[in-house]
Amino acid sequence: MGGSCCWSLLFFIHTNPSDSKFLVVLSLKFVDLVRIAVKAGRGGNGSLSFRREKFLPKGGPDGGDGGKGGDVVLEAMGGIVTLADFEYNKKFQAGHAEHGRGSMQMGANGEDVSIPLPCGTLVRDAETGELIADLVEVGQRFVAAKGGRGGKGNAHFTSSVRRAPRFAEKGDAGEEKTLLLELKLIADVGLVGFPNAGKSSILAAISGAKPKIAGYPFTTLSPNLGVLAVDDQQIVIADVPGLIEGAHDNKGLGHHFLRHVERTRLLVHVVDLSEEDVMENWEVVRREFEAYGADLLARPYLVVGNKTDLPGTEENAGVLEREMAKRGQRCLLTSAKDGSGVQRLIDEIVEMVRVHPRPAGTTSLTEVPREALGELPRLRGTTPLPVRIVRLTDGRSFRVEHANLEKTVGRIDFDQDDALMKFARVLKRLKVEEALENAGAAEGDRVYIGEVEFDFLPDKIIR
Ligand code: GDP
Ligand code: MG
Repeated sequence: MGGSCCWSLLFFIHTNPSDSKFLVVLSLKFVDLVRIAVKAGRGGNGSLSFRREKFLPKGGPDGGDGGKGGDVVLEAMGGIVTLADFEYNKKFQAGHAEHGRGSMQMGANGEDVSIPLPCGTLVRDAETGELIADLVEVGQRFVAAKGGRGGKGNAHFTSSVRRAPRFAEKGDAGEEKTLLLELKLIADVGLVGFPNAGKSSILAAISGAKPKIAGYPFTTLSPNLGVLAVDDQQIVIADVPGLIEGAHDNKGLGHHFLRHVERTRLLVHVVDLSEEDVMENWEVVRREFEAYGADLLARPYLVVGNKTDLPGTEENAGVLEREMAKRGQRCLLTSAKDGSGVQRLIDEIVEMVRVHPRPAGTTSLTEVPREALGELPRLRGTTPLPVRIVRLTDGRSFRVEHANLEKTVGRIDFDQDDALMKFARVLKRLKVEEALENAGAAEGDRVYIGEVEFDFLPDKIIR
C-alpha cells in the first residue's frame, strides 16, 4: 500500500449528445504520497591519546581521527512504479562511524543506506515543503542526509608551541530529516464505462483474485488504483469514474484534459450486461473517445461485458460477443461478483500490455517540469565559500575549516611581512574574525588554521 493516494484534480466534463447526462472523465493521474524519516550516521570522535614509550613519561600525541558517519542516499531505480514499499518501512538510519584510537588509528566510516525510489519521485523537506530533489532518470542519486564528520584526534593539534594537546574533537551528529516523497503516477490501463457498470468492482475483483494468481501480486493503492506486478514490471490499473449524474450545471470545464489518458497503453471498456441496450452503450463510449481526439479510438482496447451472474444477461452477452467479433474487437465476459472471467481478464490485460510496451525512454510516470524545481542554490565565483568554525573540547580552542585557507596558511612564511599582509587580506575577505566571534571565541583563545596555531586577538593583529 502506498501512503495517501490522491486523485489529481483534472476533470473533464462535456455533454454527451445522446444522453442528458454528462460524461466526466478523471485524468489517469494519481499522486502517491509518503512521509519518511531519514537519519545519517554519527561521526566518530577523535582520540585523545599519547604515545607510550619506554622510559618516557609521556610520548607525543597520537590520537587518530574518528570516521565519517554513513549517508542516507536516495536513488532512482528502474522496475519500481509506486511508493507502496514505504507503507511499512518509513524510517531509515545510516551507520554510525567508529571513534579514532591511539597509535594514529582512524575510526571506520559508517555505512551508507540507499533507498530505492521510482523515477519521477519528487522529494520535499516535510517541514518546509521545499523541493530538495527530483529523481528523473534511473541511477540518479541524491544524499538526503549527510553523515556526521569525524572528529580530529589530538595528533592534529600539535604545533611548535603546543607539543601535547590535551583535546580532541567530537564527531558531528548525522543530519536528520523528515522527507515527503511524492510520485505522480500515470496508469497503464484505464477502466472506463458508464457509472455502475462495475469498474470499481472489477478492480477489486482483480485484487481479490490474488490468491488464485500466483505471480501477479496486486497492490491496491486507493479504491481507484491498483498495481499488478508481472515478472519485472508493474502494471498500474486505474478505475476512471464515468458518467456522473446530476452534473448538468458544470458545463464546459474544458476539453484539454486527456493529456494523461493519452499515455495509457490499454483502455478496458466495462459494459453492464443487465442494461437494456449494450450496443448503444458501446457506441456512446466510442463517440466519447472520438470527441476527445488524442487518437483514443486507436488505443488498444478491450471490451468487457460484466455482471454475467445476473439472470437474463445471456442474451446481451451473446449480442455483445457477436457484434464485437464482427468488428474484430476483443471481448470478454466477467462477473465481478462471483469472479468468473476475472482470471482471463487479468491474463488478457497482462498480454495486451506486453504487446504494447511503454514507448521507449518513457516510464509510466509524469515527467517533472524543470521549472517546478525552483531556484537551486548556486555558488558564484565572486562569493567565497564560508569558513566553518569548530569549537574544540577544551572550550577555549577553535579550529577554522576552509580548504583554500588551510592550503594558503601552509604556504606562508611568517617571517615575511608581505606574506602576512596577504594572509590578513584573505582572513578579512573570508570574514574569519566575525565567524570566530560568532562561534564564541574571545581574546586570548587559541585558533588553529591547518597546522598553524594563532592567539585570537581580534582587531589587533589582523586587520
Ligand atoms: P462503477 O461505477 O463502474 O465503478 O461500478 P461499481 O463497481 O461501483 O458497481 C456498481 C454496482 O454494480 C454495485 O452495486 C456493484 O455491487 C454491482 N456490480 C458490479 N459488478 C457486478 C457483477 O459482476 N454482478 C453483479 N450482480 N453486480 C455487480
Ligand atoms: Mg466506481
